[in-house]
Amino acid sequence: RKQQLLTLKDLPTETLDGHGISLLANVGNLNEVSHLTDVSAEGIGLFRTEFMLMNTSVLPDEKTQYHLYCDALHLMEGRTFTLRTLDVGADKELPCLGTLIEDNPALGLRGIRYSLAHPELFKTQVSAILRAANHGSVRLMFPMINQIEELEQLLSYVEECKAKLIEEEKGFGELSYGIVVETPAAVLNLESMLPLLDFISIGTNDLTQYTMAADRSNPLLTKEYPSLSPAVLNLIQTTIDIAKENHITVSLCGELASDPNVAPLLVGMGIDELSVNLGSILEVKSALRDISYQTCLTLAKQALKIKRIEELKRYIYSRP
Ligand code: PEP
Ligand code: MG
Repeated sequence: RKQQLLTLKDLPTETLDGHGISLLANVGNLNEVSHLTDVSAEGIGLFRTEFMLMNTSVLPDEKTQYHLYCDALHLMEGRTFTLRTLDVGADKELPCLGTLIEDNPALGLRGIRYSLAHPELFKTQVSAILRAANHGSVRLMFPMINQIEELEQLLSYVEECKAKLIEEEKGFGELSYGIVVETPAAVLNLESMLPLLDFISIGTNDLTQYTMAADRSNPLLTKEYPSLSPAVLNLIQTTIDIAKENHITVSLCGELASDPNVAPLLVGMGIDELSVNLGSILEVKSALRDISYQTCLTLAKQALKIKRIEELKRYIYSRP
């Protein structure tokens, strides 16, 4: 099977009737970046930068981070490169930042909230990324955004970083900006934020957690935290529709995209890009190359009518 999948490596990601889709990778370190070529990934749709910093006891300074991002960018050779700013808190603890004691960490100071509470940390990372972008194009993505004020504040920090780099006569490149849509509030507020954005990426891991009010890492809640549910599917469709109306690229980087049974459904719902685990790239490509876009559209139309989780699963997983 593995050999068979490898024959797809250099073939385009498109349906039987030629509907193309960008198939990108989720990565968390330089080693994974160096393996993109093994599966001919078109680029990176999600670089979880906090993963790279999980084994260090002190947070790397701007210069060290700059070199890390440059090394990654160099390996990319011009392919899509999407960095997510530090997403710490809750399930992603960074030893170098110490442990936060909160009653409800998943509802606490996490993702961009942590960055807004520690602007120097955010600005250090952004300056390093801006400087790295002098050597190739970078898409920058903010996690856990709910609200336009948060986005405006972050973008003003980015402007501050640029002004400082100009003052210091250090070169930098322009970035494209996106958010991870991973809370119901982000979906409901999306329209207001799109004018400030170049792309969005749907983070279904957290979108499921916050829609179902079920801790994504609690093993007692597998039923309450389903991989696929009518509520989340509807939020995904709403997000895609809003993005399409506003001519903004819409990606999906949650685990859902790595499931070869689900990927055709997402394509039928109108997704432009899928960002999946490295190990799933060829499986997902194979599933998409084996189906027509017409069938994807039918799948989406039917799936969105289903109201029961079990029925939805049966429909998606028991297809011939
Ligand atoms: C998500 O929440 O779906 C996502 C892609 O990010 P993470 O799993 O890193 O929270
Ligand atoms: Mg997330």
